[in-house]
Amino acid sequence: MTDYEELLDRAVEQLPQKVLETKRFQVPKAYSMIQGNRTMIQNFSEIADAMNRDPQHLLKFLLRELGTAGNLEGTRAILQGKFTHYLINERIDDYVKRFIMCHECNRPDTRIVREDRVFLLKCEACGAKAPLKTL
Ligand SMILES: [Zn+2]
Repeated sequence: MTDYEELLDRAVEQLPQKVLETKRFQVPKAYSMIQGNRTMIQNFSEIADAMNRDPQHLLKFLLRELGTAGNLEGTRAILQGKFTHYLINERIDDYVKRFIMCHECNRPDTRIVREDRVFLLKCEACGAKAPLKTL
């Protein structure tokens, strides 16, 4: 172990547990490319998998936020129009904040459940439930 690693180790030990748990949740960055008038998000299903969310739900959110149309094609998402990585990743971060992170304890261990006509974000860690706006 190098001095630097030791230093890191010590720094990590000093962090509160909560910060560590939040950090362990990693959503891959969207890898996108523009082809003609369309933008392909190449690793779309990988992103949805890492989030444990339905790719259709994530796509619907992105399309609404970006004000465009699009569809899934295999593991890719294809959007009409030209969008940068930066813009797409920013919207994906919004999705994580709104549809994944628990509003109470800020952990990612949540599920979307339906009660009557309302969709709720239910946290497996603390049991909190928060109503979600439908897309
Ligand atoms: Zn919670």
